[in-house]
Amino acid sequence: MEKSLNFVLIGRSGSGKGTQAKLLMKEFQNLYYISTGDLFRNLAKANSDMAEKVKKLLEEGGLPPDDLATSLWIHEISHNVKKDQGILADGFPRRVAEAENLDQFLEFLERKEQTFFLLIDISNEEAYNRLTKRRICEKCGRLIPWVGAFKELKVCDKCGGELLTRPDDTHEAINNRLNFYEENVSRVVEYYEKQDRLKRINGEQPIEDVFKEILSAIK
Ligand SMILES: [Zn+2]
Repeated sequence: MEKSLNFVLIGRSGSGKGTQAKLLMKEFQNLYYISTGDLFRNLAKANSDMAEKVKKLLEEGGLPPDDLATSLWIHEISHNVKKDQGILADGFPRRVAEAENLDQFLEFLERKEQTFFLLIDISNEEAYNRLTKRRICEKCGRLIPWVGAFKELKVCDKCGGELLTRPDDTHEAINNRLNFYEENVSRVVEYYEKQDRLKRINGEQPIEDVFKEILSAIK
């Protein structure tokens, strides 16, 4: 039987990883999607000492202990991913130690060779603009990303409502996230690049073209 493909999406906040993840799910029917953000949010709902701490981290920012994301991730895969299913990961690994752990784990699962590490590459400046300049329709709540032709919209393209700039996060929080990428995730990118395992995808093009580039990179 052909072994299922696994995908790890890497990229700055605002790079459109989530959108590309959805497109991959459609293209490859049998993928199990793991968002590290969701794993942390679920953990925060539990009635436990750990949940309290994680809740605080999510609200105030800061770093969880080194192995927490890895443990959650391994737990999720161990309990849920079926034999014939591929893994689609978003938001992990974000530190080199996590990348090393992940490698060991993928090797154990005999999935390392069929795992693609995809960097959806956008510049720091582009990420900052996307996160601070995206708009929301006052009337219907539609989120208008700061990309391509959407930048030109004067009113909502669905209902004609007024568009407001309203970053969900403060500029400080956005800067923190982007700094985290520079200081940590960029080392993960280097880690895969040095081993010639990274597929660098130009994230500063229309969504469909980003996806096309992904598909040709994994052929
Ligand atoms: Zn609208």
